[in-house]
Amino acid sequence: MRKTILYVEDNPDNMLLVQRALEARGYALLQAKDGETGVSMAEREAVDLILLDINLPDIDGYEVARRIRSSGKSGLAYVPIIAITANALKGDAEKALAAGCDVYMSKPINIRELWARVEAFVPTDGQPTA
Ligand code: MN
Repeated sequence: MRKTILYVEDNPDNMLLVQRALEARGYALLQAKDGETGVSMAEREAVDLILLDINLPDIDGYEVARRIRSSGKSGLAYVPIIAITANALKGDAEKALAAGCDVYMSKPINIRELWARVEAFVPTDGQPTA
């Protein structure tokens, strides 16, 4: 069964990198370029995991995480969220966890770390997405 990951990210280079990396491992990727879109996609679609950039053009990733965690949609409050932080030294990571994210990764994105963290939450059969 293919797992679906929602990636909320405004940077097209990161989006493409992550799309290629996750589709190569058999995940389906939903893409949101800003926070409001990310929240609404999370509420509308069946999502197994959320990758969340913190620096977004509208509401920030902390607010996205808080809205998802307080959503009335059944189960959405428990969907794993991996924050992707640019400024780990400035306390982004602690704020991300406080906002409801489960773990965080620092930019630049390391693909092996990404695979390991994603697979820890949502194992895949490893077959590439057609
Ligand atoms: Mn960003």
